[in-house]
Amino acid sequence: MKEHILQLLATIIHPETEKNLVEGGFVEQIAASEAAITVTIRFPKSRDPFAVKIKNQSETLLKAHFPQAKVLVMIKEGGQKKLPDLKEKSTTGDITKVIAVASGKGGVGKSTVAANLAVALRDMGFRVGLLDADIYGPSQPKMFGVEGYIPDAEEVDGMDQIVPADAEDIKIMSIGFFIRPTDALLWRGAMAVNALKQMIHQTKWGPLDFLVCDLPPGTGDVHLSIIGEMKIDAAVIVSTPQQVAVADVVRGVEMFRNEQVNIPVAGVVENMAYFSPEELPDNKYYIFGHGGARKVAEEYNVPFLGEIPIVQSIMEGGDTGRPGSTIDPRVTEWYHKIADKIVGNVMKNG
Ligand code: ADP
Repeated sequence: MKEHILQLLATIIHPETEKNLVEGGFVEQIAASEAAITVTIRFPKSRDPFAVKIKNQSETLLKAHFPQAKVLVMIKEGGQKKLPDLKEKSTTGDITKVIAVASGKGGVGKSTVAANLAVALRDMGFRVGLLDADIYGPSQPKMFGVEGYIPDAEEVDGMDQIVPADAEDIKIMSIGFFIRPTDALLWRGAMAVNALKQMIHQTKWGPLDFLVCDLPPGTGDVHLSIIGEMKIDAAVIVSTPQQVAVADVVRGVEMFRNEQVNIPVAGVVENMAYFSPEELPDNKYYIFGHGGARKVAEEYNVPFLGEIPIVQSIMEGGDTGRPGSTIDPRVTEWYHKIADKIVGNVMKNG
């Protein structure tokens, strides 16, 4: 499929250089699944007069050839090696989109969703990083089997950077690399926030298409500090079907929609939505109630991204260092659908 996309892009000529997009090295990244195609085109000039025209041409062409897929062509301008100014020097400088995963309270599967979402985005061909900012219970190191990882520091352009772990082709930085679980309590205040700031600004991610950020549960001061440090492009809210959890979704939506925060909500995922026994996979038992999160999403006008049932492989995956979507094809499929929707919603916002 990527080959086909490249062939199509090779028919579009950049008028000034008279080279086609492929030959001229304009195509930076292609990610494609049956449902979504995203292409990043980079123009070395910071204001290329043909950028928009080429974006439109490429979209039209790809849509005509892949009518079933959502097509998004992103434009980046300026050479990749441009020296960043101070603000851009934050990790978000060379990251296209930051997606925060949030939940009203702990234990609903926020970290699990963040991990599997990162895997799904990687499957789609994106370069992905995962920032585990859950100071109350950092679980990404365990989820990806990199608990013992001790980050090294490296000097880049005269500045110390922290090297993230790498698992499943995903760059992972976690507050858990710096604190022991038993220390977590002591860390809840300013110290944790300072450590988070360092992780946000000094991690050596390299260029990423998506950084998935696993936020702490709830809607408190720590969130506001993170939001203040990092440009978050979209928030995904995770809930379970229980009434109380659903009520927390509302608080989450309100936090992101707050005038001063103003982060688009890419949608709500209902986790542990139902249970299907292995031996009766067509039977769905909605043991905690049905459709609560979907209803709240509709009421608050945020997209409903999908349901994830209670599945043993998800829980086991989390415990054995392999997220469910890397070991169970059903889980892979559920998360691919969700990731497709998120990518669509995030890109729609520019
Ligand atoms: P949170 O980040 O919201 O505190 P976690 O992601 O750590 O929650 O999940 C809490 C527990 O529930 C973990 O043991 C995890 O493996 C399990 N879990 C999460 N989602 C599912 C699911 N869909 N099916 C089975 N177990 C799940």
